[in-house]
Amino acid sequence: MNEVLPISVPPRTRKPDWIRVKAPVGSAFAETKAMMRRLNLVTVCEEAACPNIGECWTKKHATVMILGDTCTRACAFCNVKTGMPRAVDPLEPEHVAVAAAELGLEHIVVTSVDRDDLPDGGASQFVKVIEALRRNTPRTTIEILTPDFRNKAQAAVESIVTARPDVYNHNLETVPRLYPTIRPGARYYASLRLLESVKRHDPTIFTKSGVMVGLGEQRLEVHQVMDDMRSADIDFLTMGQYLQPTPRHAKVIDFVEPATFNAYAAIGRAKGFLLVAASPLTRSSYHAGDDFARMKAARDAKLGASPIKGGTVIAVTADVG
Ligand code: SF4
Repeated sequence: MNEVLPISVPPRTRKPDWIRVKAPVGSAFAETKAMMRRLNLVTVCEEAACPNIGECWTKKHATVMILGDTCTRACAFCNVKTGMPRAVDPLEPEHVAVAAAELGLEHIVVTSVDRDDLPDGGASQFVKVIEALRRNTPRTTIEILTPDFRNKAQAAVESIVTARPDVYNHNLETVPRLYPTIRPGARYYASLRLLESVKRHDPTIFTKSGVMVGLGEQRLEVHQVMDDMRSADIDFLTMGQYLQPTPRHAKVIDFVEPATFNAYAAIGRAKGFLLVAASPLTRSSYHAGDDFARMKAARDAKLGASPIKGGTVIAVTADVG
C-alpha cells in the first residue's frame, strides 16, 4: 500500500463518529473550575481546549499549567496564546500543592508554557512546585510535562531531575519531517536528547513522550519515531488524534481509525515500551494516574521476571496495553 498521501488530498474537517467526548456532569466540574480560579491557577485542559475536559474534571482530574497562560512560541497545533508572558508568580508552587490536596490527587500532572524569556526556561519553578508538593502532599506522585528548554536543556534537566519527579514527560508531538511547519521553534533531536539525559541522570525516573497523528505523517515515519524513542530509553508512549483547535491552526489531514491506533499500540509494545496508550482521544495527561500505576507494575514485573543468567539480563516485554 502506498502510504504517501497525494498532495491533492483535502484536509478532513468533519469529525468521525469515534471522536466522541463526554459532557460534564454533576457538580465536580464546576467545583474544579472554581478552585482553579480561586487559587489563580491555569490549566492546560482549558487553554488547550482539550476534548476530555468534561470527563476529567468530572473526576476532579486536571492538569495544571504553571508559569502563566502565555507562551513564547507559536506552534501550529497549540491553542495556548502567544506573547510576552507576565512575571513568574512566587505563590504558584504553594497554590499547586493546595490544589493537589483539595482535589485529593494521588497523581498530579504539571506542565508549563514555553518560557524562552527566562534565563532557566522556567526550570526552577518546576523544582519549586515539586518541592511544594512533596512537603504538602507527600503521597501524591508527580508527573511533569516540560517544554524543551531550548539552549538551556542540560542545566534544566539536571536541576529538575535532582528534585525527583516520578515521571518526566516531554512530547515529541510529531514526526521530524513535519517540525518546520508544526513545531517550528523546536528541534526533534534536541527533544530526544533531553529525554535521554533524564534517564542518564536518574534511571529510576519514568520517561514518557507523545505524538499526535492526523497531521500528514506516514506510518513508517511513526514507526521510526518509536525506534528513536526506544533508543532514548523512553518508557511510555502516548498517541492521540490531532484536533484543530481553531481555523487558524494546522488542519487535520486525516482522522486515524481506532484500528490503526490499536496497530500502533501493538507495534509500540513489541518495540519494548513499558506502556503504550494509543487511541483517538489519548492525551499526555489522560488517565495519567491509572497509567502511572500500570507503568510501575510493568517495570516491577519486568525486573522481577528478568533473571540474570551468566551476566545476561533476560528482558521481558510486559504487555500492559
Ligand atoms: S486529558 Fe489532560 S489536558 Fe485533557 S482534560 Fe484531561 S487532564 Fe486536562
